[in-house]
Amino acid sequence: MLNTAGLVKRYGRHVALDGFDLEVAPGEIVGLIGHNGAGKTTFVETVSGLVRPDAGRVSVGGHDALRTPHAARRLLGLAPQEVALYHGVTVRENVRLFARLAGLRGRRREQEITRVLDELRLSGLADRPVGVLSGGQRRRVQAATAMVGSPPLLLLDEPTAGADPETRSALLAAVKARAASGTAVLYTTHYLPELVDLDATLALAHAGRIIARGTQQELTHHLPGELRVVFADPAEGELRVSTRDPGADLAALIAAGRTPVSVDVHRPGLDDLYRSLAATANEEEVTAGGVVA
Ligand code: ATP
Repeated sequence: MLNTAGLVKRYGRHVALDGFDLEVAPGEIVGLIGHNGAGKTTFVETVSGLVRPDAGRVSVGGHDALRTPHAARRLLGLAPQEVALYHGVTVRENVRLFARLAGLRGRRREQEITRVLDELRLSGLADRPVGVLSGGQRRRVQAATAMVGSPPLLLLDEPTAGADPETRSALLAAVKARAASGTAVLYTTHYLPELVDLDATLALAHAGRIIARGTQQELTHHLPGELRVVFADPAEGELRVSTRDPGADLAALIAAGRTPVSVDVHRPGLDDLYRSLAATANEEEVTAGGVVA
């Protein structure tokens, strides 16, 4: 549904996208993660036509988004990182505006608005001006404006930033339901557990490009986990080792005559993946600093 290749975007001498390639298939949720400044928002803005790249291709549903931006724009719903709503008018009117832009008319439009407000648990707020809502409530309204009309591609840029558990669970449930019915979803976040909850494919952005893409299992299997062993002899205490093969390490301890009374294996997860990404990025910064010095 979304195909991009070789995207480059420069701001003066700063390269925000440096050959960014990413695809999202119908029914797939791609979780785009990476450090602050990795290029995630610039990518979302490029796909949605808000930013013009210096090089590369963007195809949305088979339409060249750079040559025929209107055709591509009609196929996508965008919830930008900075909430962009009309504060002086009600929640329903905000969603109605986007429903009109999505080409919905008459009774069908009103039914669709009611359905989306319900899906995002906004029905009770429908007639309140957006300006009086809390930050989390506004995030839900922003998601509603993206989802109304059921566009086949959703771009959600940190949709749960600062959201409370109720807002988060409403959003995640809506995103899962959309993907289950075939919507392609690009979802950026710094909250890694959300991506586990969404069963998302992960894409790791670093310095303007995607450096890894795959399932959590595929991306974390090479990382070490931790083996924690408490021994029967109090004098031996507790052992914690970072290891890729906890079974072999435990067998070696037993073969050496040590007697465990409790064994715990911590398998690497998304947080470990993020930490390893952080370590790689920091090393590169240190190297770069050395060159400059
Ligand atoms: P975050 O996790 O903080 O949202 P991000 O991965 O979304 O970060 P971007 O917002 O895409 O990162 O920014 C990528 C880089 O491009 C940053 O170094 C940023 O300072 C720079 N950048 C983004 N927009 C502009 C702009 N309009 N003018 C100049 N530089 C920009």
